[in-house]
Amino acid sequence: MTEPTPSPPSSPSPEVLRDLVVDAARRHGFHRVGIVQVEPSRRSELYRDWLAAGRHGEMAYLATPEHVAGRADPRAVLDAARTVIVVALAYGKDAPPIPGGVRGLIARYARGTDYHMVVRDRLQLVAGELCAALGRAVASRVCVDSAPLAERELAERAGLGFAAKNTMLIAPGLGSYVVLGELLVDAELAATEPPARDKGCGQCRACLDACPTGAFVDAFVLDARRCISYLTIEHDGPIPPELRRALGNRIFGCDVCQEVCPYNAAAPDRHPPAAELTARDADHASPDLIALAAAGANQLRQFVKRTALRRVDRRRLLRNVAVALGNSGEARAVPSAFALLAHPEALVRGHAAWAVAELVEHGAVDAATATSALASAAAVERDAGAAAELAAAATRTA
Ligand code: SF4
Ligand code: SF4
Repeated sequence: MTEPTPSPPSSPSPEVLRDLVVDAARRHGFHRVGIVQVEPSRRSELYRDWLAAGRHGEMAYLATPEHVAGRADPRAVLDAARTVIVVALAYGKDAPPIPGGVRGLIARYARGTDYHMVVRDRLQLVAGELCAALGRAVASRVCVDSAPLAERELAERAGLGFAAKNTMLIAPGLGSYVVLGELLVDAELAATEPPARDKGCGQCRACLDACPTGAFVDAFVLDARRCISYLTIEHDGPIPPELRRALGNRIFGCDVCQEVCPYNAAAPDRHPPAAELTARDADHASPDLIALAAAGANQLRQFVKRTALRRVDRRRLLRNVAVALGNSGEARAVPSAFALLAHPEALVRGHAAWAVAELVEHGAVDAATATSALASAAAVERDAGAAAELAAAATRTA
């Protein structure tokens, strides 16, 4: 007599897997989670129109065939993908008290540990739990701005929130101070039930009116070339002179179109923001510009270590610092601006020249002293771009 062969354990149902993943995501600290089946984007035409208008600026990677294909269909990112798990993690909107001095400003999302690392690590834990439940390896891909997905559209479909006029995703109860992540998997999970539709932006247009650089072409349409986030982070060359004053003291990113949003001003969600994403200290929210201008390569490396600030190199960061020094209008900023006139990077020297002329206009330094410093710098300048900046600044201070 032969023993009956035991039947293989059956796979958990898509509904069981959905509940398991939602539970895992919540346990790993995500504030919102939604699950959708993979399908082509419904907005790829809008994206192509945005590219065709050149509104992506120097971000050429956004227009590559791979990027456009990924935004059109997640299967271009992971061939075997059947399901997308979309998560949101809230970061803090409150800043530590700002000490005195000449201070810059860093966008809220970048004040703590780099969110790419935080979200990726947590999503990998979720993927591990899914593998364990299925008893097999799962083809998966974690995406945190690291793959060309139409993430806000996916987040909206997954019921995390709505696409707002400022082009952010607003998660009711959390606002827009959230970072998103996606986990593509080859397993079939049942979709989560989206919550009742929120009323959205309605007639509000506070963000469109508040943008310091007029970067919104229209509701939902941002011209990245005018956006301070783009200019201070992605943009590699000189910041257009006509936009420099609008940067104020922002040296990395900009929160203005979120600060004015009534959804962010509303009562916060009962969940506290992710601890890793809150500001490390006051200097990572509002750094001392004079100290940054004087910092050596090692000090700057330490300052940006394990933060999203790593996205800008030293020359771009000091370019932004030079602009903020000029905008401070402070006499205390003058020695730093003068010192940056001799910086090894031409980009920094050019923006320091602009800063010196601004400081004269603010009355922080007298014109004769500034003109003399600019003339000394111009006498040894060999870079055409920096020389042009020095000449333009000298014309203003003469
Ligand atoms: S981030 Fe700042 S500059 Fe960019 S659109 Fe928003 S308000 Fe305007
Ligand atoms: S400020 Fe008003 S228009 Fe802008 S995103 Fe918020 S609700 Fe929408």
